[in-house]
Amino acid sequence: MLYKDEAVVLRTMRLGEADRIVTLVGRNNGKIRAVVKGVRRTKSRYGGRLEPFSYVSLVIWKGKSDLHTITQVEVLDPFRAVKEDLDRLSLGSVMLEACDRVAQESEASARVLDLLIQSLRRLSTDSSPMVLAAFLLQLCGIAGFAPSMDRCAECSKPASWFSPGQGGAVCPGCRTFNSEEVGTSVLELMSDLAVPLGTAPRLPGRPPTEEAMATAARLARYYTEYHLERRLKSASAAEAMARF
Ligand SMILES: [Zn+2]
Repeated sequence: MLYKDEAVVLRTMRLGEADRIVTLVGRNNGKIRAVVKGVRRTKSRYGGRLEPFSYVSLVIWKGKSDLHTITQVEVLDPFRAVKEDLDRLSLGSVMLEACDRVAQESEASARVLDLLIQSLRRLSTDSSPMVLAAFLLQLCGIAGFAPSMDRCAECSKPASWFSPGQGGAVCPGCRTFNSEEVGTSVLELMSDLAVPLGTAPRLPGRPPTEEAMATAARLARYYTEYHLERRLKSASAAEAMARF
């Protein structure tokens, strides 16, 4: 059966001498793993089109095996500016890895794909770690584990600490040992970043300090890694349980 989809390439891996396995996140098909035949031959039609970050339109042959075969590729946006700048490349690589963990096979990922494309576009002109922080916080929201940011995750009182394991912002009374005092300006900044661009009017106020931005970027990454890791562990534990 042939199917079409739009997707961003997350990673590629060599398969034998001439072929490559490409992992993508697709609008309608979620995570796609597919073989590209003859990609390493010098005159391959697909050679440069299926690199990480490339946003492509695809035709894929789905046989009986889990691995599908890509039969046509058209590049919609290569995101060259991200691939060719070291700072952008390293921020963008974290985005691809997070999508790889969140996207599931055969589960439509339109929201994840749209967020990724929009964030790669922003990254093409802005190499600030805030672009990555905003992406990660919004991805957590799509994946169903958005952090609490304006109120304590445990008791809803005003919060000034942050604790990934407790679900985000916490108050001094609820915080456990694994928490960090961050102050309200960092929490306000994170809560701004978690809202998709253009959907909420930004309140006029003082621009965030360098220090607040650095802390927000670090916490967004720490929080996302903590929850993605836990989710992976619980998925493998569920699989292990299912086997018995
Ligand atoms: Zn509390």
